[in-house]
Amino acid sequence: AKAPSTTPQVIINAHDLPYLNPRLPVKLRVKDLLSRMTLAEKVGQMTQAERNALKSKSDIATYALGSLLSGGGSVPTPNTPAGWAAMIDTFQLNAQATRLQVPLIYGVDAVHGHNNVVGATILPHNIGMGATHDPDLSRRAGELTATEVRATGVPWDFAPCVCVVRDDRWGRSYEGISEDPALVKAMATVITGMQGKADGTELAQSNHVLATAKHYVGDGGTTYGSSTTGNYKIDQGVTEVTQQQLEAIHLDPFKTAVDLGVGSVMPSYSSVDIIGDDQGPVKMHGNAALINGVLKQRMGFDGFVISDWQAIDQLPGDYPSDIRTSINAGLDMIMVPTNYVDFIAGLTAEVTAGRVTQARVDDAVSRILTQKFKLGLFEHPYTDTSRFDQVGSAAHRTIAREAAAKSQVLLKNDGNLLPLTTTQKVYVAGSNANDLGNQMGGWSITWQGASGNTTTGTTILDGIKKNVPTATFSQDASAPTDGYDVGVVVVGEKPYAEGIGDVGNNGHTLGLTDADKATVSKVCAAMKCVVLVVSGRPQVIADQLGDIDALVASWLPGTEGDGVADVLFGKSPFSGRLPVTWPRALDQEPLNVGDAAYNPQYPFGWGLTTQAAARQQLATAQKELLHKGSRDAAALAAVVYLELALRVKDWSGPQAPGALAALGQAGKFLQKSKVDSFADDDAVVGAARWIAQDQIGQNLDEATSKLTSDAAHLALTGDLSTAISKLAAAYKLH
Ligand code: BGC
Repeated sequence: AKAPSTTPQVIINAHDLPYLNPRLPVKLRVKDLLSRMTLAEKVGQMTQAERNALKSKSDIATYALGSLLSGGGSVPTPNTPAGWAAMIDTFQLNAQATRLQVPLIYGVDAVHGHNNVVGATILPHNIGMGATHDPDLSRRAGELTATEVRATGVPWDFAPCVCVVRDDRWGRSYEGISEDPALVKAMATVITGMQGKADGTELAQSNHVLATAKHYVGDGGTTYGSSTTGNYKIDQGVTEVTQQQLEAIHLDPFKTAVDLGVGSVMPSYSSVDIIGDDQGPVKMHGNAALINGVLKQRMGFDGFVISDWQAIDQLPGDYPSDIRTSINAGLDMIMVPTNYVDFIAGLTAEVTAGRVTQARVDDAVSRILTQKFKLGLFEHPYTDTSRFDQVGSAAHRTIAREAAAKSQVLLKNDGNLLPLTTTQKVYVAGSNANDLGNQMGGWSITWQGASGNTTTGTTILDGIKKNVPTATFSQDASAPTDGYDVGVVVVGEKPYAEGIGDVGNNGHTLGLTDADKATVSKVCAAMKCVVLVVSGRPQVIADQLGDIDALVASWLPGTEGDGVADVLFGKSPFSGRLPVTWPRALDQEPLNVGDAAYNPQYPFGWGLTTQAAARQQLATAQKELLHKGSRDAAALAAVVYLELALRVKDWSGPQAPGALAALGQAGKFLQKSKVDSFADDDAVVGAARWIAQDQIGQNLDEATSKLTSDAAHLALTGDLSTAISKLAAAYKLH
């Protein structure tokens, strides 16, 4: 639906001032504009108010506000692309009524697609994206989000979270990609998808927006139940780490984000307490060493730092001190978001008194203006209303469906129950089988998200029914259970956004609700069963595992339940792998790969596939290797061994050990080969794992637990020959 432009275009070039000349370099434009600005205008640029908190639209001009945001669920009426465009253009019109006509930069949290807008494409939350281990998909997902966001007139997104999730009890675990910084870094391609080239020269395009790496730094590493902060203060708590851990685990992904040119960074509500210095916990919003020192100076971040929502208020001291401390620590724009009048008066007073320098203000404003120029806001302050049809488009839903499919992690598959066939008699049950809101999670239409049909999409049940129209659905499994070939039970969490995620769930216990447990027990006692866990983090399920034939970690797949059905019915292979460790028991938390005592239910990187899928991937990998390594003897030897493995017709038959041995040889030669960055050695590991899994059948979990953490890690992430021989030894295949 296209709507006519709701606001007249203001001809701002009429001024003929240098900063309005798009042919001049951005640096010169910033310098020129800055030289014309009063202190009040500069302070205004550093201020971000929430759109609902505006006392009057004319305050935008009165205070020369630099930015507005929609907090979660702060949506226009109607909540449509045209509604958004009209709202933002009206605000912008007020900004254009100022002396220098500096455009507003409007920001939203579009953390898994343009999640505030009804009808938008909603992707899996980051934890599911992490499970895909697919950087190219991550890039495409970023571009999809940016395209839909920009189409509604919004040039700035408070995403992605490049947090490293070290304890699943953290209620924002779902917003993180992984516990492994290397995986977070690999998937940071989402930033490129959102912004385009690292130098920002593509930011003005309609498929790009300004991204925000958040929450800097250590938000996913806070200590549960820290004595300094009280019980359950795992959200906004204290990250107690050595300098070395801080660098390697939490800072490293931000370095990648900076290298990819991320335009803004948001500090975390939490504090960092470096073990070994005697400073104690320092709130990130006042942490000059980490913001000025590390982020801006050492990493060379040249975008701007936006505070989190009212976060400076949490700094010790009175409000003037909060303002002074945060701005002097390196914050450039403050998300006030309601008391903007007090903030503006306070910052002005601090500058006038010399406690915040003019130079600091000029630096902050220059950084903000630079991004506004790069975004093309001076030339095109208003929405391009011809692009509303991008929101929720069929092409975007296809990508989201692919992401949903690739995010599914097959944890257990006894007797090869999966994939299902369309001729089976299927019984579907569980609280999350037919609930779009539950499968989207938090930050979906509203801040905390909500159960039910809050937007357009397909539930997992819808997807199953497209394959098996006769499937029976009984949410609580009260319908008779006799006679079915297979039951699909979809359980898990109800939506939440921040805190510890205990709203409607067992929250910090990471356990299924009693109702979910009862449904699982009932269906699994009556028939072969597949259990899908729809949740933002692993759920402790050890006590029911014995009753379950196949188990899938579905994460929060978003609007495209069809993608989940695609893997259930073998239309797409299971390729997802755990981005975080799946614990056996709550008291194992925090539990991360590399820990000294590592005895999880399923290790980091775990994820089964089906024989057909493993073969398909291996064949594709072999072709790619042949292409890349045609002059490399070792690579060719690997190709031959892969061929040998593929010629074994049935990997679950008596020849399986032979196939495994051939894969082992292929692995050895792969390591010797000079074909660097051979992306698909994953396929070799996957195939080896599939064979090993089939050999030991029901006892896979047990065998896995016998592996040392080292061997498990190797098997699942890298060193092929060692991994395969250790697997083979553990599974007694020699
Ligand atoms: C969250 C941020 C978010 C901000 C603005 C805060 O509560 O911590 O992640 O960007 O709100 O909505």
